[in-house]
Amino acid sequence: MTAVAFTAALGMPICSAQSAPALPKLTVQDPLTALISGGRSAWTPDQVKVMERLRDAAMKDPYALDELRYLTSNIGPRLSGSPQAEAAVQRVASEMRALGAEVTLEKAKVPHWVRGAEAAEVVSWPGQTPGTTQKVVLTALGGSVATPAEGITAEVVVVDNWRQLAALPPGAAKGKILLFNHRFDKEEAAVGNGLSAYGDAVAYRGAGPSAGAAVGAVAVLVRSVGGADYRLPHTGMTDYLPGVPQVPAAAVTAEDADLLRHLTSQGPVKLHLTLTPQTLADADSYNVIADWKGSEHPEQVVIVSGHLDSWDLGTGAIDDGAGVVVSMQAIHLLKALGIRPKRTVRFVAWMSEEEGSQGASAYTVDHASEAANHIGAIECDLGADHPTGIYFAGKPALEQWLKPVSEVLEGIGAETVESAGGTGEDIQGLTEKGVPSFAPIQDSRFYFNYHHTAADTFDKVDPKHLNENAAVMTVLAYALADAEEAAPR
Ligand SMILES: [Zn+2]
Repeated sequence: MTAVAFTAALGMPICSAQSAPALPKLTVQDPLTALISGGRSAWTPDQVKVMERLRDAAMKDPYALDELRYLTSNIGPRLSGSPQAEAAVQRVASEMRALGAEVTLEKAKVPHWVRGAEAAEVVSWPGQTPGTTQKVVLTALGGSVATPAEGITAEVVVVDNWRQLAALPPGAAKGKILLFNHRFDKEEAAVGNGLSAYGDAVAYRGAGPSAGAAVGAVAVLVRSVGGADYRLPHTGMTDYLPGVPQVPAAAVTAEDADLLRHLTSQGPVKLHLTLTPQTLADADSYNVIADWKGSEHPEQVVIVSGHLDSWDLGTGAIDDGAGVVVSMQAIHLLKALGIRPKRTVRFVAWMSEEEGSQGASAYTVDHASEAANHIGAIECDLGADHPTGIYFAGKPALEQWLKPVSEVLEGIGAETVESAGGTGEDIQGLTEKGVPSFAPIQDSRFYFNYHHTAADTFDKVDPKHLNENAAVMTVLAYALADAEEAAPR
């Protein structure tokens, strides 16, 4: 209801009652009751009080921050298939066991790619001072193949987008290093549309290497997908298409992309490029599953989750250590406050989201027959900045259903409820099977400045914002698990 409608609802009957006594007299309480939660609620007033207690506890409790510090600073980066990813699995499992949750490690085969050396320098360009070179800052894209150990030297061709690639004369990129200089739209990110800016640019990181190889390029560079200044390259997965030669692929910083664009507009530019990543045999790894068993319907589960793997340049604090620890906090607070909801709250730390969501795929296969028992799924994977509410994917009726939860979260500025096509990479399979799915809506203005860079470290997480996200995850997980009637689907 709008403010205008509210005024009308309160004002009209009172005035009418004075001039026309025949009309039924409404008290101020009636329209107020209608406004609060907008009608029938899936939760009793006592359950709403539990939500408020969970929210307030999440805002004070240091558990999520402490777990994040250990994960990022003691274990460090958690690349799929790496010893640190394995250590993180063991750490999170033992922390969940310590809370009394029922822990299972569910197997998944995951990629095992290691970075190796990465270096580049411009070795010839218009205006070059004889005997000098210029360093180019870059990082290999995940899954990239290697150059020979001594590197390759080739001329650079720059295109800004797919249209310019299509307009190249035949053979223009043959034997060359092709740079996709597509800009990440920092202005769009700055007004809060970080995900949209990312979506536009990430297509070049994914498809650029094969598109370049298809026109004869011997290596492909992409302008980093992200908003960082300070000459930081952003890594991330690339996708080689079947049937196209696999060429070495790296992301250059925005500054170096500008440099190469400028110099190539003046004349021929040659680059020496060395990348020595290796793709090892797929590794055995695990999703960590920890069930806080339901008191009435233990077979019905609500997933609260983040992904445990990270890229290797930083320590995976905002992507996605934060998502893991705010989900751990949900179990920790249910334990600390002695709350046992009707249904099971299932914490999941997904493995290998960054390199293809193999953990989530394994879960979908292993639990294929249990979709109907998945009452809801939540994933937090957009950092740890201030949450403004909840995204949902599923029936439009979820918006109204969530109203009482939104009212509880209004206390921390997270009352928005908004429909979205998807709510998380790892729970997308469940979403597609009709499981109501959710994610915190997070302030994305700064996330892509650090995403997939060496600067994704513990200090980037504001403890208050982290706690706000923990509050959203915990309150929502409890609400889904304890509602009298399950979320509409
Ligand atoms: Zn992520």
